[in-house]
Amino acid sequence: MDEFGQLEELDKRHFLHPTSSIQQQQDMGPSFIFKEGRGIYLEDIKGNVVIDGMSSLWNVNVGHGRTELGDVAKEQMAKLAYSSCFGTFSNEPAIRLSASLAALAPGDLQATFFTSGGSEANDTAYKLARHYWILKGKPERKKIISRTKSYHGVTMGATSATGLQPFREFTSSLAPDFFHVAHFNSSALRKLIEAEGPDTIAAFIAEPIQGAGGVHIAPENYFKEVKNICVEYGILFLTDEVITGFGRTGKWFGIEHYGVTPDMMCFAKGVSSGYAQLGGVMLSEQIHEEFKKLSTGTLLHGYTYSGHAMACGVALKNIELVEKENLIENAKTMGEKLLAGLKQIQGKRKIVGEVRGLGLMAAIEFIDKNRKSPVSPLIVNEAAKRGLICRSVLFDGQDTIVIAPPLIIKSEEVVKVIRILDDSIHEIE
Ligand code: PLP
Repeated sequence: MDEFGQLEELDKRHFLHPTSSIQQQQDMGPSFIFKEGRGIYLEDIKGNVVIDGMSSLWNVNVGHGRTELGDVAKEQMAKLAYSSCFGTFSNEPAIRLSASLAALAPGDLQATFFTSGGSEANDTAYKLARHYWILKGKPERKKIISRTKSYHGVTMGATSATGLQPFREFTSSLAPDFFHVAHFNSSALRKLIEAEGPDTIAAFIAEPIQGAGGVHIAPENYFKEVKNICVEYGILFLTDEVITGFGRTGKWFGIEHYGVTPDMMCFAKGVSSGYAQLGGVMLSEQIHEEFKKLSTGTLLHGYTYSGHAMACGVALKNIELVEKENLIENAKTMGEKLLAGLKQIQGKRKIVGEVRGLGLMAAIEFIDKNRKSPVSPLIVNEAAKRGLICRSVLFDGQDTIVIAPPLIIKSEEVVKVIRILDDSIHEIE
């Protein structure tokens, strides 16, 4: 048996893949066993080279194979990989990263609680929002409102907030006090708040642009309206910038497109471009002040890896690369080029419905009335054969492809992505 065959056997027998079809894994085995990455490209052990059109999971923003990040990780690991940040213990990379985030973040988000990823960031935000209300003498404010088509992660709280129904149905019971509202409807939010009772609601959370749900971009005034509603009813306004943070949309943070600022902000993915497991929640000055009053109590929420020295060191370097290489500007201009290309495809391929995008997050909807089953999985397969990884979204009856290449993508590479997508759609239509 060759190397691939051996690994395939072991994969099937021992590796339970996250967010995957177990049956497909057993039937097909691994489609790619990646061994190396360079820039926007990934190479598998058979020597196939593909464009990582999803930045893996919307996170490898500075591209693959960045030795600068490897060097920082090695140096920091050799010096101090990890030490506890519980209580009064601290470390330099965590301090410096929290200060750097305070300088970058919108509004007065000034203090960061670190986690290992986006789901933990979400659960942390919900718990801290509820704790804030306990401190304010209003413990009955505990309900969390999120939106349809939202994805917030897979821990119990994050699953409960996630609006995509199949994730919620995966488990037999969820966390209580979570409510969902139609995704771009501020009147529906007001109605829900009134129906539930404003004094029972802790927070409203939204992704500035919905990612996993199919790249849905809010109408221009939506976030101003919901922020006003939150202010009116005294509800905390939380944003989940796990995908949209750190340049993906052509600004540092997605919410900056909408001219409002959150009371808390979750982040992960792009903070370290996937080179280290890191996420967090940032709190406004006012919420932080409230927490400081907790002087006689303890913040009974902390992960072993909150403020992990190596991960924070890598994130600092990653942010430096994003700045030095003007990747936010690149996301904006390459995103415009990508969207223009998708619009051209829309013009000539009749199975293409809406195309949309902001920065380097884009989607193509399919409207193939002659078929009973969705076409997007077939197109994703065709694209993979031609050397491009993208993702099909079928939630809520959608038949959509999403694309989110690394922020380092060059003009000629965008052209290549568009050509592969067009050829793949042509093959299927
Ligand atoms: N929030 C959003 C908006 C996400 O897109 C994701 C992951 O895709 C998460 C939270 C969960 O993050 P993680 O997978 O790091 O736990």
